Amino acid sequence: MTDMNVVPAQVINTIKENLAHVRERIRLACRASARDESSVRLLLATKTVPAERIRVAVAAGETLIGENKVQELKQKMPLLEGLPVEGHFIGHLQTNKIKDVLKYAHCIQTIDRLDLAEKLDKRLQFEGRSIEVMIQVNTSFEESKFGAHPDNAYDLIRAVGKFDTLKIKGLMTIGLFAAEAEKVRPSFTLLRSIRDEALSEGILLPEATELSMGMSGDLETAIAEGATIVRVGTAIFGKRIYPDSYYWNERQG
Ligand SMILES: *Cc1c(COP(=O)(O)O)cnc(C)c1O
Repeated sequence: MTDMNVVPAQVINTIKENLAHVRERIRLACRASARDESSVRLLLATKTVPAERIRVAVAAGETLIGENKVQELKQKMPLLEGLPVEGHFIGHLQTNKIKDVLKYAHCIQTIDRLDLAEKLDKRLQFEGRSIEVMIQVNTSFEESKFGAHPDNAYDLIRAVGKFDTLKIKGLMTIGLFAAEAEKVRPSFTLLRSIRDEALSEGILLPEATELSMGMSGDLETAIAEGATIVRVGTAIFGKRIYPDSYYWNERQG
């Protein structure tokens, strides 16, 4: 399918420049904490971003994209077909959208409750396959955020780990939404400590080391705390017209 909207040259340049800047931030953050640059992957948070703009980033070498809404995932993934991209689902997942998310997502980062895992397993058994997942933890203790309560995370990991169809890659969190990156650090530290403890107790398999955390405003902090995937939207594609609460707080999706 061809793009219906031509991206203006100026927008193309801005996306490329922004990407180069974000890549540089990642590089510097890795250096600052003596981490290998290849240990951190950049996931483009592409909610509200049209497929043709995502293509610009893909042409610049990006391969990971994350969508919050099943509707957007379903609409854009076919437009990116044939490109070397891996689609991750990073929004709240309702059980009635499972079929579509499984069709288009390579990984579901937001497993936050057992009934969701059970229903995914049921569908995957029917399809005779498995999928990569992450366990989403609410590390900010805010009511409005999705994710398992940290106290319940271990039980959830254990329970999800019993399904052969769900390959747990690690943990994901949004973290405290704060203007200052420093305020979100405890959220990231907490996610890492849950992962480390779950690994050392054998609740997580040795390969389930991913920590998906950090966004435009706090990726340096996240990398310092061990992020292996940072999810960046605004710093690459510019400001969105919808407030994030539209994506994070509501229960419809
Ligand atoms: C939007 C979003 C991001 C990226 O946020 P930015 O501040 O735009 O970089 C990361 N993770 C999730 C779950 C999101 O919804």
